[in-house]
Amino acid sequence: MIRPMIAANWKMHKTIPEGVEFAKQLKKEFSEPGDVDIVIAPPFTALFPVAEVLRDSSIHLAAQNMHWEEKGAYTGEISPTMLVDAGCEFVIIGHSERRTLFGETDAMLNRKIHAALKSGLKPIFCIGETLKERESGTTFEVIKKQIKEGLNNITSDDIRQLTFAYEPVWAIGTGKTATPPEAQEVHRFIRETIAADLGYAHASETVIMYGGSVNPENTGSLMDQPDINGALVGGAALDIDSFEGIIKILER
Ligand code: PEP
Repeated sequence: MIRPMIAANWKMHKTIPEGVEFAKQLKKEFSEPGDVDIVIAPPFTALFPVAEVLRDSSIHLAAQNMHWEEKGAYTGEISPTMLVDAGCEFVIIGHSERRTLFGETDAMLNRKIHAALKSGLKPIFCIGETLKERESGTTFEVIKKQIKEGLNNITSDDIRQLTFAYEPVWAIGTGKTATPPEAQEVHRFIRETIAADLGYAHASETVIMYGGSVNPENTGSLMDQPDINGALVGGAALDIDSFEGIIKILER
């Protein structure tokens, strides 16, 4: 039985006081380890203050991005070691906004995954097709390429540290969700692709979250699918009541 995960991606939202207040409320409601791994990914400025609130709780902290180098002349970037220093355990890598708005390629994401693992950070690796790719019937081809190139030279031991998020780009922030069977079909394909490379034993334990306009109304039917093991939530994770509502559905 795979332990489900729910992750809140706040993107470029929330000041330090807002992030701290959210974390305090979440910690009050979910102070004991439950049946779901809860992860929150604040913007960089709020990471350390939120980490201070989450200390001694079972809620995990993630960053939304990082550079692959340890240090150097990379103005505006942040290194894996700096994220560990700020209290992060996870890091989101390859979010579609990073791929499309900031030109991150599969080869760059592969470097980031290796660097994260080397520093002891657990990557949440995002993959997903655009609407154009879905409509042209290339979804599986795109997903396979993202996995193969993103995970180049990743070992079966490494894969234990990795979580996947299938996020169809056309469903992110649009209010359009993949239907549960549509999402399940791709999640199954992702698991089979991992299994073909790294063995079924590893693939059967890998957490594959779904992301794309998840909300308290559609969570239940998505989570009923056998290969969907959680949710990466953007918009609906900005409001404490709606995020807690989604967590409670996953806990059932
Ligand atoms: C996301 O940013 O990863 C995401 C899934 O956003 P939303 O839930 O708003 O679609």
